[in-house]
Amino acid sequence: MKSKDKKIIIIGAGITGAVVARKLAEEGYSVIVYEKRDHIGGNMYDYKKDGVLIHKYGPHIFHTSKQHVNEFMNQFWELNGYKNIVEAYVKDKLIPIPFNFQSIDICFPEEAEEIKQKLKSLYPDKDTIPILELKKSNDPLIQKVAAFVYENIFLNYTTKMWNLRPDEIDESVTARLPIILSNRNTYFQDIYEGLPKEGYTKAFERMFDLPNIKVITNFNAIDKIAFENDHLKFNNEDCYIVYTGPLDKLFADKFGKLEYRSLFFQFDIINKTNFQKTGVVNYPADPKMTRITEYKNMTLQNINDITVISKEFPGTYDENDDKWNEPYYPLATDKARNQYDKYKEFAKQFKNLYIGGRMGLYRYINMDQAIEEALILADKIIEEIKND
Ligand code: UDP
Repeated sequence: MKSKDKKIIIIGAGITGAVVARKLAEEGYSVIVYEKRDHIGGNMYDYKKDGVLIHKYGPHIFHTSKQHVNEFMNQFWELNGYKNIVEAYVKDKLIPIPFNFQSIDICFPEEAEEIKQKLKSLYPDKDTIPILELKKSNDPLIQKVAAFVYENIFLNYTTKMWNLRPDEIDESVTARLPIILSNRNTYFQDIYEGLPKEGYTKAFERMFDLPNIKVITNFNAIDKIAFENDHLKFNNEDCYIVYTGPLDKLFADKFGKLEYRSLFFQFDIINKTNFQKTGVVNYPADPKMTRITEYKNMTLQNINDITVISKEFPGTYDENDDKWNEPYYPLATDKARNQYDKYKEFAKQFKNLYIGGRMGLYRYINMDQAIEEALILADKIIEEIKND
């Protein structure tokens, strides 16, 4: 069979599947996208509840400094200019998160000026510093601040979120939320940020809207895959397969189940115009909940007398659990990564299999990184099909 006649199957209609489908279709190839859920968009899926646009799988704020990623997505959406502002309840006070100079003013009113001067002189070239690095300071006053931030913002939140202490997971996880050595109170530092004015789902509809892209939802494509020596078959046919789901699922748990953290969202409709001041409020001290999101504060919809919030509860992923049955975060430990690497190594033998996405790659990547890597993957596939 000629390579151009082989079917191209994409498994998963999340951002990686959508980017790869779009790029291949623009190149003239026909693709079929299979999605086991009843909707497209992966965890970026949004829909309206009583007129309020909400994110089914929790708050997704797009942010990037990658020009090409921004331009690519601008074909399918227009961002609303929202900049994520987060606060946290710490000792019954709302403070800016990431912890910044304003947070210092609130938490250390007596010593605030001295602390800020010290931070500036100790770290003259830095705008931000990860908590685990700040904790290494020998200065007694900075040690006191670091211990306060660690105890009150990171320790309990991280233990709830990961079931591990901050020093037991990869440093990159807590470094996502560094201490800001200025008054800056935005959560992200990227050039472009916002939510799509018409929602993420609409953008996915546009990405899939080409005559040579077929999307089939409610379909568990793994059941149709057969393994033959160095390649996979789909429905007994030769094909190329782009797989964006967890690798343990694809390979029937051959090397054991991969560990993921999951989230449970409790959505509440509230008959008030507003519930909280910011998009997100973190609750580090709460025994079970990590944060509350008020969607209208992010979508910037002007709707009175009703608002929708979600309360977020992390847990251990188990596909049979009532609450924590969707994988959200690959576990960032050496042990989990080593186990994943066995799957990755095993997958290499299948020449027509391409793996991508946060689940497939088992990496804690943001939306813009997923898009960037999907663009690279699409180019690789196009090149390899030509040479096949
Ligand atoms: N984190 C924390 N306290 C907070 C916010 C975040 O300890 O108030 C830690 C926690 O380990 C979390 C990580 O920082 O998993 C990254 O936070 P981020 O907000 O980037 O998580 P995401 O939005 O991806 O769930």
